[in-house]
Parts: sequence; structure tokens; C-alpha cells
Amino acid sequence: MNLSDLGWKPQLDVSFEPLKAHDLKPARVARVDREFYLVLGEHGELVAEISGKFRHETHTRADFPAVGDWVALLPRPDESKATIHAVLPRFSKFSRKVAGANTDEQIIAANVDSVFLVCGLDGDFNARRIERYLAPAWDSGATPVIVLNKADLRDDIDALVADVGSVAIGVAIHAVSASERLRLDALAPYLERGQTIALLGSSGVGKSTLINALLGTDKQATGDVSEHLDRGRHTTTHRELVVLPSGAMLIDNPGMRELQLWTDEGSLDKTFADIASLAKGCRFRDCSHASEPECAVQAALADGSLGPDRYRSYLKLQRELRYLAGRLDQRIRQAEKARWKQIHRVIRARAKLK
Ligand code: GDP
Ligand code: ZN
Repeated sequence: MNLSDLGWKPQLDVSFEPLKAHDLKPARVARVDREFYLVLGEHGELVAEISGKFRHETHTRADFPAVGDWVALLPRPDESKATIHAVLPRFSKFSRKVAGANTDEQIIAANVDSVFLVCGLDGDFNARRIERYLAPAWDSGATPVIVLNKADLRDDIDALVADVGSVAIGVAIHAVSASERLRLDALAPYLERGQTIALLGSSGVGKSTLINALLGTDKQATGDVSEHLDRGRHTTTHRELVVLPSGAMLIDNPGMRELQLWTDEGSLDKTFADIASLAKGCRFRDCSHASEPECAVQAALADGSLGPDRYRSYLKLQRELRYLAGRLDQRIRQAEKARWKQIHRVIRARAKLK
């Protein structure tokens, strides 16, 4: 397998260069199964484990390899095995942040180029809902792309796209129909060979249908694809990083599915829908409802329509979320530093061996 087909980027050469001199090879993680990592690289598919040294020196969960990560490993191709010595810096990542006494970050998918935020244009379509997915999408470092699915059900597509455009400034918006396979060619630019995509969206919006469409099970492609699928049968079911017929890779794993629940339900606005609806009347869109002028929440508090207890618990949760976000930023920076330290340690250790 060719590395650029697997999504290798020229900027990775910089971090990998010093490791290359020590017989380490790059490979991409296609699945994590407890302490085993299914990796893809120039040697094809290998089952890798992390080195004892790596395990010993790695203390945060986020520093272990995740699906989509590029790792530096020593291959043993005759056994189809390998030992991972380092994780290369990630250019994007989706993580789940576990709140509690200890903030912990679990990486769900790494090195994603584009993330499709899928919405369904049926029933309760709501442009504001997309805002909720935009924040984690931008945070991830991947480029968000809004996919309005089920376009076959509507004839006011242009108006809908304009509506969504007003809450998602600067984001590409494409209306498609996955089940009817309409306008899917609009997604082609994100699906070029070597690109990595992931999907986010609530349940029922048509993500599985879209994945099937992208996997190209239509008649035209069957001849080409069936051989490819057959050959990969014993592995495609295990992989969470799947190569699409277009040459792009899709990361589809249980963590991404949970992330959308977290994104959907964990928000302050949902828990405090009353305050969120009052907040629409605030002068400033990012009003914190503490001391800003013309704050509708403060006004409701003053006229008694909002209870002081409710307001206090809102502020408390808001503070907690901000605190958590701040701590995470710090942890992420530390993790990135630790990864570089580790790369340097590997280089030194291997230099001694020579
Ligand atoms: P998921 O939960 O996001 O994976 O959604 P599914 O792919 O399971 O789809 C949910 C429902 O929406 C199913 O009944 C699909 O047949 C339907 N669906 C998916 N795509 C389209 C579409 O483009 N148009 C219409 N009308 N229905 C669709
Ligand atoms: Zn306010």
C-alpha cells in the first residue's frame, strides 16, 4: 500500500524524518482492539502492539494510538506483526472529554481531513441544530462540510441552503439525497484519493445510507468493486478506517457514533432551554448573562420570571464547562509536547543501539 493513498501528508515527513534513520516505518491505524492495533502501511496490513518503553512512558490516554493515527513502527512482515514506538503529531482529532475529578481525553479519530455534518431535511429540520455540531467540528481541526440529506423530500432547497448558510458562515453546504443517489457528485472533492472523512449527525439523518452510497454498491460500480470487497472480506468488517472506491478513507467507529450523542445532548442549551430561549433577546450573541448590558436573562431575573436558583445552577454548569474546556486545552498542549519528547527519546535509544 502506498503511503499517500493512505493519507500521508508532506508535513509528516518532518516529524518522521529522524525516525526513518532508525529502521522505523510509518503506518496508519485502522482499528484499535484493546492492546492490539490493526495498521496499514507499505507492508500491507499488520497487527501491532506498542513497545514496553512506549507503554511505560505514556501516562495519558490521549497519547496512545487511535484510529487514523500515523505511528512509527518496527515491522515484522513475515509474522504480519509490528511494534509501535511512537505516534506522529496529529493534524486533527475528534475526542471525547470525560469530565470528573480527572479530566481525561479519549481520542476517537485522528487525522480526518473533512467531517460531513449530516442533517436530514425531513420533519423537524432545524438550522440551529447544525450550530451544535459546528463547534466540535471546528475544534477537531478537520474541515466541516454540511451535508443536507433527504433533499428529495423538499422543493425549497435553495431557501434551506441560504438559511443554513446564515448560521454556518464560511462552511460549504451541499444538499443531496443518499437514498435516491442525487447530487452526490457534489461531495467528490472531499473524496479524492488519500483524503480522510468522517460523518457526524443525529440518528436517522441518513448516515448509514450515505455510507452505503459512498461505498458504491450501485450497479455500475459492482464489477470493479466486488473483487475489491471479496478480497478484503475478512478485514473490512474489522476495520474502522475503510477505503472507499474513490480512494478516500472513511473513519466509522462506535466512538464517532457516541460523540454525536454527546454533542447532541451534553449541551448547556438543551439542559437550560428556558434560558437559551430568553438569551435570544440578549443584545450580544455571546452574552454570558452575568454583567452585559441589555441582557434578557438578567431582565427576567429582575422581574421574577426566572428563578434565582435556576439562574445559579445555569451559571454553575456554564463555569464547569468553561473550566473543563480550559483544562482540556492545557492537556492537549501537554500531550503534544509529550509526543515530541517521546519521538526524541526513541531516536536517542535507537541511536545507542547502532
Ligand atoms: P442514520 O441513523 O443516520 O444512519 O440514518 P439511516 O441511514 O439509517 O437512515 C434513516 C432513514 O432515512 C431510513 O429510513 C432511510 O431510508 C432514510 N433516508 C436516508 N437517506 C434518505 C434520502 O436521501 N431521502 C429520503 N427520503 N430518505 C432517506
Ligand atoms: Zn444575556
